[in-house]
Amino acid sequence: MFCDFSAPFLFIYSSEVPSLLYYSHVPTAIVALLFGLFIYFKNRNNLASKLLLTVTVLFFILNFLNLLSWVNVDSRIITTAWLTSQVVYFSLPIFLLYLHYVFLFKKNVKPLYRNIGFLTIVALTVMVALGLTMSYFNIISCELVETPILEIYQNIVFALVFVGISVSYFFRFRQIEEGKEKRGITIFTLGVVIFLALLIFTWQIASVFDFFELEQYGLFGMVIFLGFLGYLIVQYKAFDVKVFGAQALVFALVVLIGSQFFYIQNPTNRILNGIAFVLTLVAGYYLIRSVGMEVKRKEELQVLSDSLAVANDRLKELDTAKSEFISIASHQLRTPLTAIKGYLSLILEGSYGKVPPAIQDVLDKLYTVNNRLTQLVEDLLNVSRIEAGRIQYNFQPTHIEALAAELVDMFALNAKAKNLYLKIHLPKVALPQLMIDPNKIKEVMQNLIDNALKYTKEGGVDVIVENAGDTARIIIKDTGIGIKDEDKEHLFEKFIRSKETTKMVVSGAGLGLYVGKSFVEAHGGKIWAESEGPGKGSRFIIELPVVNPNVKQGVSDQVSALAPQEKK
Ligand code: ADP
Repeated sequence: MFCDFSAPFLFIYSSEVPSLLYYSHVPTAIVALLFGLFIYFKNRNNLASKLLLTVTVLFFILNFLNLLSWVNVDSRIITTAWLTSQVVYFSLPIFLLYLHYVFLFKKNVKPLYRNIGFLTIVALTVMVALGLTMSYFNIISCELVETPILEIYQNIVFALVFVGISVSYFFRFRQIEEGKEKRGITIFTLGVVIFLALLIFTWQIASVFDFFELEQYGLFGMVIFLGFLGYLIVQYKAFDVKVFGAQALVFALVVLIGSQFFYIQNPTNRILNGIAFVLTLVAGYYLIRSVGMEVKRKEELQVLSDSLAVANDRLKELDTAKSEFISIASHQLRTPLTAIKGYLSLILEGSYGKVPPAIQDVLDKLYTVNNRLTQLVEDLLNVSRIEAGRIQYNFQPTHIEALAAELVDMFALNAKAKNLYLKIHLPKVALPQLMIDPNKIKEVMQNLIDNALKYTKEGGVDVIVENAGDTARIIIKDTGIGIKDEDKEHLFEKFIRSKETTKMVVSGAGLGLYVGKSFVEAHGGKIWAESEGPGKGSRFIIELPVVNPNVKQGVSDQVSALAPQEKK
């Protein structure tokens, strides 16, 4: 039997057949198949990629059979194609359900459920073979009329497929915690549902209303599905395939331009399209190559920065261990040093009887050396506290001039012994009381005066207190060895001493300025060094804000916001 209208034989193009037919069937089928093959060959061992390939192959066959029945007039060909397509059409949603599950849970479905799925397909094949799905062939409309049994069976199974997809989606969504993975499975599920819905509903509506052109639009569901998949692959490395945006873009462009060939009838346009096609291929090739190189470089950098991060963590661990060690060692050293100092003082004061002058001299030296050692231990302890963020500040209103005067008195003998002058210069108008931790600032100034005397051979030291508007300025000026320009910045770093200093064989570990900077900065102040150059003396300047930003107005005794409580 032949239908009574002039349709082309097999795939010869004719204006009788809606052009959308070619546009919807051929490119979508080819693209889907290429896509499935691409994913499969990129990752052959992955079950999900095998299932995706199955889905795309089924889709390809369905398109082929569908096209065959559209463009033929021979009822035998149409009937055979139509009946075969019933099995393929039915299998598609079942394999999609299978793929969906494997994609979401990353494991195979239990054998029982796999067998059930398989049996539903076998059952339909038997029904088709027994002729239960075909009512008769309508020669006038040139189409096969399907039986209600088929529709009922199909509808029940398809409804179950939708239920299966929804249940596994919601179950999995609640199971996983990571937001990115949640988004990934949502996008995938959305793609599957859109594809299935378009495929099933357009097909159903088409047969109910006898409006078969609608079926063609259903096929575009595959394009949407592939779009979602492409996005997942680029963004989420789905199917364990590494593809970057540029590859996907070029692929989509080539497909889009290539598919125009099925649509364009005008020869000029065909040539133009051909040129565009070739240009896209060439430009695409270079784009992919350059992006590929970029990606590779980025990956190499990533590997490098990962290993650096590991090394950095290790260094941090070592640094903490070192600080811990210093802290423990210093604590252990402090106790005997204090005992030595105590006993030396008692001996020097004559508590154990009169000390002969020769021994007195030795004891004086011992006392000085012991003090230096105590200071060193104190500095080391301070460094480890600073690094552990365990310095406690006890801010209280303080007369800075009084503090400076006290220190100058303290160092008077020291200066005299070295034949140096030590003078204090106070402002005419007294400064307001500063909100500072007097012990900490005293320690800083003490170190500066000590340094100034230490690094000066002749001349002397001036301690100047000035009012500089919002800040109180304390200057410790000496006529000593001076500082080179390049050294000025670094002196405030840990364990840094200038070359000249090391040559002078003056004791010191290069910690005082580091500790001082940290203390002054915790007060919201600044400390820096000035010098005209080597041999021209130095000035160390501290600026402290008259209103300490680290202390709330009116509160006199509290811990700095910058430094957490010190653990004793
Ligand atoms: P220390 O004096 O124990 O070495 P500091 O941290 O107090 O440690 O000082 C660091 C370095 O700064 C000193 O070693 C010295 O090189 C330099 N320095 C400090 N004060 C002066 C000064 N008044 N004149 C010249 N150089 C100084």
